Amino acid sequence: KLQVPDKPVIPFIEGDGIGHDITMPSQKVIDAAVEKAYGGKRKIIWKEVLAGEKAFRQTGSYLPDATIEAFRKYLIGIKGPLQTPVGEGIRSLNVALRQTLDLFVCLRPVRWFKGVPSPIRYPTLVDMHIFRENTEDIYAGIEYMDGSADAKKLSNFLIQEMGVKEIRFPGSSSFGIKPVSKEGSERLIKAAIQYAIQRELPSVTLVHKGNIMKYTEGAFKIWGYDLAENEFGDYTFTWRQFEKIKSEKGRLDAEKALEDAKKAGKVIVKDVITDAFLQESLLKPYDHSVIATMNLNGDYISDQLAAMVGGIGISPGANINSSSGYAIFEATHGTAPDIAGSGKANPSSLILSAVMMLEHIGWIKAAEHVYDAMEHVFAKRKVTSDLYAQMEGATLLTTSDFSDEVIKNMH
Ligand code: ATP
Ligand code: MG
Repeated sequence: KLQVPDKPVIPFIEGDGIGHDITMPSQKVIDAAVEKAYGGKRKIIWKEVLAGEKAFRQTGSYLPDATIEAFRKYLIGIKGPLQTPVGEGIRSLNVALRQTLDLFVCLRPVRWFKGVPSPIRYPTLVDMHIFRENTEDIYAGIEYMDGSADAKKLSNFLIQEMGVKEIRFPGSSSFGIKPVSKEGSERLIKAAIQYAIQRELPSVTLVHKGNIMKYTEGAFKIWGYDLAENEFGDYTFTWRQFEKIKSEKGRLDAEKALEDAKKAGKVIVKDVITDAFLQESLLKPYDHSVIATMNLNGDYISDQLAAMVGGIGISPGANINSSSGYAIFEATHGTAPDIAGSGKANPSSLILSAVMMLEHIGWIKAAEHVYDAMEHVFAKRKVTSDLYAQMEGATLLTTSDFSDEVIKNMH
């Protein structure tokens, strides 16, 4: 369990574009909820640290060392969206921050608020938590451009030294490398299983394309089952164990073992192929709770599930290193320059990211105050422009009016 002082210092990056619009209103909401829950006993001491355009203007660096040091010192922080400067030799400021602190978990909870438009029939039953691996996979950025000397060298090596026959056009192929390690997969899956156990959630689904990519995605599944059975045997029951009992003793015994595990409150660890998962999560979202998956799958899944509950304007997220404890909470959208400064931005994404932070440090009562208040506001159909366009009979609020309305609805 995390040790947090009653008045923790939380570094925050305001961010570019709508970052400026949503940061202050979000902090106001969080401060009000903490005050409501604990009186003056607890309080967040917000400490601004610089990154992005604002940092460049003031310090000449897009990501000053002082910012990284502050996150190291205080462990937990929050950030608005950052625009990646073009031609500065950085792939992305977000990626740089993740890599520096080795934030290997990208966590996205997906939860529906009554009144928010959803394309699915039973949004009430949506309560999913996506654990996306953040550092490996085809997203590692190891790529070779077609026609380049390196791509030709690699092509020749694979064909001549390794006997590979599947490269159709050796002279003009690009290559992308998909590194996937046991350690990298295990630490992600471990974080997902621990989260499910701590929050008493019913299951962890390993999502993968192991039927096609056996030694990367298939291995992810096997490592996941091994980990669940060997390290969390007292707390989990796996589909692999179910299959084993079924083949040794028959279906009835396997089903009884599954029922017993559920009754005992064990986390059921299962696996689903990615394409099937994308269908299942739409048709039967209630079948899945915690989802553990690799980088590319996780990217697709996160955005699809976000769309089920209102889109990027209300989708929170966090990047976490569950070993060191570093965690940065952040809205999942970009800088949205098209609406920056217009009062149209929905602050819910950042407010809910800060709520995840409250849950992370164990300030559950304050977190619940925000959830309850937001539920009231959405049920009254008072919304910002992103949701207003999709809702009948709604009232349009600006960014700061929305957050004031949330505060007014804290009872
Ligand atoms: P970036 O280049 O930083 O990714 P972007 O223009 O791609 O920025 P996104 O934030 O990815 O912007 O979002 C795409 C669109 O979704 C935006 O143009 C904006 O209209 C809308 N949008 C994003 N976030 C919000 C929000 N919090 N509230 C309302 N609309 C939003
Ligand atoms: Mg974008």
